[in-house]
Amino acid sequence: MNDETRYDAIVIGAGVGGLAVGTLLAREGKKVLILEQLDRPGGRALSVRGEEIADRGLDWYRKLLSSQYTYIAGSEPDLETIIKKRLLDGYTLDIGYHAISANGAGYMLDFEDCIGGLPEVEKHGAHFGSHYKGKIYRDVAGSSIDPELKRIAKEGRIPYLSFYTDPYGLSDDDIDELEKVSFKEWADKKGISKSDVIFNHLHTVSTLFSTINDPGDISIGDIFRYFKHAFLPKLHRGVLGWAGGFIGHGAMEWSKAVAQKIRDLGGEIRFEARVTQILVDQGRVSGVRVELPKGETTFQADIVISNIPAQHTFKIIDRKYFPEAWATRVETMYGYGSYVPYMGLNRLVMPEGEAKMGLKNTCVLPKSEGFDYDVYICWNIQSAVDPSVAPGGKYLYTAYLPVTEKEAMNRKLISKIMHRLPEFMEEIYPGFKASIDWKLDLVCWKLEGVAKSISQAGTQKVPVRSEHVKGLFFAGDTAKGYGVAMDCAIASGMICAGEILGKDFGIR
Ligand SMILES: Cc1cc2nc3c(=O)[nH]c(=O)nc-3n(C[C@H](O)[C@H](O)[C@H](O)COP(=O)(O)OP(=O)(O)OC[C@H]3O[C@@H](n4cnc5c(N)ncnc54)[C@H](O)[C@@H]3O)c2cc1C
Repeated sequence: MNDETRYDAIVIGAGVGGLAVGTLLAREGKKVLILEQLDRPGGRALSVRGEEIADRGLDWYRKLLSSQYTYIAGSEPDLETIIKKRLLDGYTLDIGYHAISANGAGYMLDFEDCIGGLPEVEKHGAHFGSHYKGKIYRDVAGSSIDPELKRIAKEGRIPYLSFYTDPYGLSDDDIDELEKVSFKEWADKKGISKSDVIFNHLHTVSTLFSTINDPGDISIGDIFRYFKHAFLPKLHRGVLGWAGGFIGHGAMEWSKAVAQKIRDLGGEIRFEARVTQILVDQGRVSGVRVELPKGETTFQADIVISNIPAQHTFKIIDRKYFPEAWATRVETMYGYGSYVPYMGLNRLVMPEGEAKMGLKNTCVLPKSEGFDYDVYICWNIQSAVDPSVAPGGKYLYTAYLPVTEKEAMNRKLISKIMHRLPEFMEEIYPGFKASIDWKLDLVCWKLEGVAKSISQAGTQKVPVRSEHVKGLFFAGDTAKGYGVAMDCAIASGMICAGEILGKDFGIR
């Protein structure tokens, strides 16, 4: 056996979950190889410079997006004109909207603490709020609370802050139980629903965390676990000042910095390396078969970690190794998609404070238009928070409007949202439509790999250690992990590394 092709652990995929587990293993002295099909790290948290799109062309861009479950549904002007006139030059586009929860103070910070920090990564904090009946209500950020919500809660004796404080008094077993309870059920029982303003506001926060429109399907236990374990310690440390934020120069900068850390620790990352098969010998993994630009090869390891969405597991490992019921459950776990437009603006028509906020609304299009539930939005002028993502004098608008995987594939429904969005913005900010230089309508059918619904959240996801094939592990937002998407993938990477190493990284 060739020592050069033998590793302690092979990670399939350089998404944030794969990078997290790879770094922690490399840090413990393991010989780690990460195999990534693309030419860059980050997976769904990718970023692309506008110049690269113009230089490499539309086919390349479409292929890149499609590798991350995303397609272009439309644009204004047409795509050929956008490319020919190089309208995207000077912009940095994440794949869709890509804010980081608590400006990176959640599990992202826990992970960074474990690996000695990532000082080279910039984070730009943003306040978030909800827009309801012409007023803006701010999300809780650290210990700062919107005075109007506080007043309404006090006058109506509505336990608004229970949403944030209840989790701290709960045991982990209580939280496990609450995974199967919806935000709506919890809010009704608590009496939160007595105030439409407070219910609406907390609904927007719950959708922001879960990417699910329907409050009757959002797991309250997942949110509570996140508050208790990811946020409470940071509140005590005084580092929880923002509801969200953006990675400077695009989300991928985080993954690039982590990838460098892995190399510094002696780990290896191979790009343009697509794993075609996980090799299994007598019930345990023995390595992987890989397609490289030069041809096919195999790498050996007793530990293989799959970072690809779990629903695609059986594309790279034979289904026969798993009980049928388990395989079917994994394949049928549903994610959540999103309409994720970008707009290049030539001026800002909203007050500066609002341009710098992440603003949410529970209904851009009502359920009656054919959707499973009213379609929610969260939008930012990303360049007002991080000016590096737009050229001088221009502004980048990004947004996400969650839709189910099925809705994401329904061109008629997507077309309704595409046409509605500029009108919706114009109603709030007259002059908005005239400020648009260009618009790109992206749709992603797997923003959240596994929706944090009452039937799938947290501990109900795919376990990080396979019970059926020895040496096979899972990491990423479809495996056991908690919290907002990128944070969830990172948490899962930490749980996975802990399981392999027999070590406690603070997340169970
Ligand atoms: C449009 C969009 C908007 C989003 N917005 C947000 C947001 O605002 N905030 C947030 O926190 N999260 C957001 N997310 C979700 C977040 O990006 C994901 O939850 C997270 O990045 C998932 O990471 P992962 O490691 O689980 O998986 P992935 O990112 O899917 O990583 C898997 C990796 O495996 C690679 N791969 C797949 N098959 C193979 C193979 N056979 N061989 C080798 N490599 C392979 C892929 O190329 C990829 O790099 C968004 C996602 C999208 C798509």
